[in-house]
Amino acid sequence: MHYQPMNDLLKHRLILVTGAGDGIGREAALTYARHGARLILLGRTEHKLQDVQAEILRETGTHSLIVPCDLLTITEQACTTLATDLEKQIPHLDGVLHNAGLLGDIAPIAGQDPATWHQVMQVNVNATFMLTQALLPLLLKAASPSLVFTSSSVGRVGRAEWGAYAVSKFATEGLMQVLADEYRNQHLRVNCINPGGTRTAMRASAFPDEDPQRLKTPAEIMPLYLYLMGDDSKRKTGMSFDAQPGRKPGPAV
Ligand code: NDP
Repeated sequence: MHYQPMNDLLKHRLILVTGAGDGIGREAALTYARHGARLILLGRTEHKLQDVQAEILRETGTHSLIVPCDLLTITEQACTTLATDLEKQIPHLDGVLHNAGLLGDIAPIAGQDPATWHQVMQVNVNATFMLTQALLPLLLKAASPSLVFTSSSVGRVGRAEWGAYAVSKFATEGLMQVLADEYRNQHLRVNCINPGGTRTAMRASAFPDEDPQRLKTPAEIMPLYLYLMGDDSKRKTGMSFDAQPGRKPGPAV
């Protein structure tokens, strides 16, 4: 995407990123902070979140909040508590990037391990739903809030052996569309990003034989992440965007 954001695009914005400790989520958190936002870093591995927090402080002088949380075991009650705790610290949320995700088994449906299937659905769909529900009141208090979900090309057209992951991303697209329709006449916009093949640990485990050098880095796909969080996308809702338009799904060749 060719998008030139203003340096202060996200000045004073409060943005929560899930899976902020690694991969695309880490880069998104750093990028949002560099454009003026204050970050709420949610993720599973506390030391990774602390590293991102330290990096943001070093680069921007801004102190981020850390929310260690395992989406695999999170409950509805825990989501409510998390939101209540946040309400004591911040007046509203200008944006939420649901980025954390689990890949699960790359195997035909006949061979998908049911326990892993449930884990993928829990992290990618159920936790995302419960967290969204809990955070909606904080989002709706903002002037121009943006809710962004992370999808995939296999969440639009099914592909053999992508199993639970593909089905969870179809569900993510569905959640985004339903929510966008529900808030169509209000100030909350809701959209999906399909990052496209990106150089991360998840990508390497999905395509172990692929040359990572042939993939875009998380930093290279950030223009869309900025566009959807900032006011330039104010009138966009219910849409699914490609961070790498024109890229053919599947391994880089
Ligand atoms: P990574 O595996 O590199 O990072 C995923 C992040 O999610 C990590 O920070 C991880 O935490 C966190 N996470 C995983 N499970 C949980 C959990 N149970 N609770 C809390 N946090 C968790 O993945 P990517 O950066 O590649 O992917 C980011 C998003 O983009 C995902 O939704 C993915 O499906 C999607 N995507 C990625 C593509 C790619 O090519 N990379 C292509 C299409 C879509 P921890 O660091 O502790 O492991």
